Amino acid sequence: MTTSQPLADCLFCRIVAGELPSEEVASSDEAYAFRDINPAAPSHVLIVPRRHLTDAAALEPGDSELLSALFSLAQAVATSEGLSGGYRLVFNVGEDAGNTVPHLHLHVLGGRPMAWPPG
Ligand code: 5GP
Ligand code: ZN
Repeated sequence: MTTSQPLADCLFCRIVAGELPSEEVASSDEAYAFRDINPAAPSHVLIVPRRHLTDAAALEPGDSELLSALFSLAQAVATSEGLSGGYRLVFNVGEDAGNTVPHLHLHVLGGRPMAWPPG
C-alpha cells in the first residue's frame, strides 16, 4: 500500500486540508468530493482520496479499500446529484489523457447525454 503524506504543494491535498476553498458535495473518512471549478457537464464532481496518490497508475494491490471508498462516494454523489439517467466516471492518467492535477481524482460527470468516444 502507498503511504504518501499530504504534499504541501499539491492543489488537491491543500483542498482536502481546507487550506484552499472548495464546494463540498460529500465526504467520508477516506475520500472527499467537491465540485469541479470548470464543470464539463451540469454536474461535475471530483472525488479524491484524502491521502496523496499521484494517479491511477500509482495504485497498488493494497489500495483496494481506498478504491472502494472512492466508488462508494461516487455512488452517493450520483444519488445526491439526481443522476438517475446515468453518469460517467473518469480517471485521466498522463499527458495523453489530459491529466492536469497530479493527485488521484475520479470525475463524476452527469446531467446531460455523454458522447462516445470521448474527445
Ligand atoms: P484532470 O484534467 O487532471 O483529470 O482534472 C483536473 C480537474 O480539476 C479539472 O477538471 C479542473 O477543472 C479541476 N480543477 C483544477 N483546479 C481546481 C481547483 O482549484 N478547484 C476545483 N474545484 N477544481 C479544480
Ligand atoms: Zn495531493
